[in-house]
Amino acid sequence: MTYPTDKDCIFCKIVAGQIPCLKLLEDADTIAFMDINPVNPGHALAVAKGHWPTVDVIPAEVLAAVARTAQRVARAVVAELKPHGVNLLQANGAGAGQSVPHLHIHIMPRRPNDAVALNWDYKPGDRAEIEAIYRRLKAAL
Ligand code: 5GP
Ligand code: ZN
Repeated sequence: MTYPTDKDCIFCKIVAGQIPCLKLLEDADTIAFMDINPVNPGHALAVAKGHWPTVDVIPAEVLAAVARTAQRVARAVVAELKPHGVNLLQANGAGAGQSVPHLHIHIMPRRPNDAVALNWDYKPGDRAEIEAIYRRLKAAL
């Protein structure tokens, strides 16, 4: 299987074995390994082997494979670590907090009061604005 690579990308180097990682599993299109800066114990990453930066450019079947790998890791995290909860998080672009532009899903175990800032408050939206944006997105699909 051939896939795109970027010689300057840290995750491409991990996929190629040029940088070590604590590898949890590997299949044709994906690998999973422990995050080096865990927000909580057990924080791991499901990573595409190919260098596609974001969700809008990765082939759908590879994204599906990354999701399957994330689920396998999440099942192990839930069964073995019994966290309070688990977030799956996938960032696209620096504006969304993505620091490594090589698609990956975080498997993020949660603990009570861990202060991980992923939550937002519910505020009722402007109905007309929601509908206007809905129409634009629907036309773009
Ligand atoms: P992002 O900010 O792109 O959503 O997440 C990138 C993640 O990759 C971060 O959680 C960061 O800790 C992790 N990371 C960055 N460099 C390395 C590395 O060399 N090895 C491992 N195992 N994780 C890394
Ligand atoms: Zn890469």
